[in-house]
Amino acid sequence: MKLIFSGIVIPVSTIDWYGRSVSVIFFNGCNFKCLYCSNNSFIKVANQRIEPLYKGGSVVEIEEIEKKILDAKPFISAVVFSGGEPTTQYDALEYLARFAKKQGLLAGIETNGYYPERLSELMEKKLLDKIFLDIKAPLDDAQKYSYITGGRDDAAMRARKSLDLNGIEIEVRTTVFRLFSDVLGIARALVGRECTYVIQQGIPENAPEGEIRKEKVLTRDEMIVLARSIPFLKDVRIRTKEKGEEKIL
Ligand code: SF4
Repeated sequence: MKLIFSGIVIPVSTIDWYGRSVSVIFFNGCNFKCLYCSNNSFIKVANQRIEPLYKGGSVVEIEEIEKKILDAKPFISAVVFSGGEPTTQYDALEYLARFAKKQGLLAGIETNGYYPERLSELMEKKLLDKIFLDIKAPLDDAQKYSYITGGRDDAAMRARKSLDLNGIEIEVRTTVFRLFSDVLGIARALVGRECTYVIQQGIPENAPEGEIRKEKVLTRDEMIVLARSIPFLKDVRIRTKEKGEEKIL
């Protein structure tokens, strides 16, 4: 089997899954084209976004990725599949999740949530232990969600379906910029759910183009204010360049 691979692996990371040491495998390609995507240098999303839409990256044999997991195995307890959007290469994702589980490792996924049915399939096969779900705008604002994600009109509806998946731990994440920081609107959809909410500091200069690149990065103090604006959630964290992950509420 082959994988369209970004070429990027973090062999040992302690920030992608709180409390665990993990390897992070970055798949290439994404079905969104977010205005601020910091991964654009290796995603290279096509203008006509009809899947598969991989313009960049390289095709590798899946054994190459298996070897990277085996090399890291003494130092990790889980593998996180990231991207891009890993669910866009479902067969390779399932294969690698199964490989990780066979090694006695946990499997997690960083996802935009557009394919709840693919996440569900992994769960049914007991190949997924945690979902890190990127929610980009209030789920009741389909227009804004579509604007941010590059024109996916059903993106908010499908992200909500992923959020509604039962029987798995979900961590919700939002990357914030001055132009896009409606964490209050997003957090309303999280009331009553057992999920952690992580507000991540967006880096404007990594955006592919547009006004957002001229923004000043939100400071850690401003991020703390954002987190404190949603006191009705139980577990709210911020993630900044300055201090990494911090629990605020
Ligand atoms: S979903 Fe993530 S990887 Fe895909 S375009 Fe948006 S920010 Fe980039």
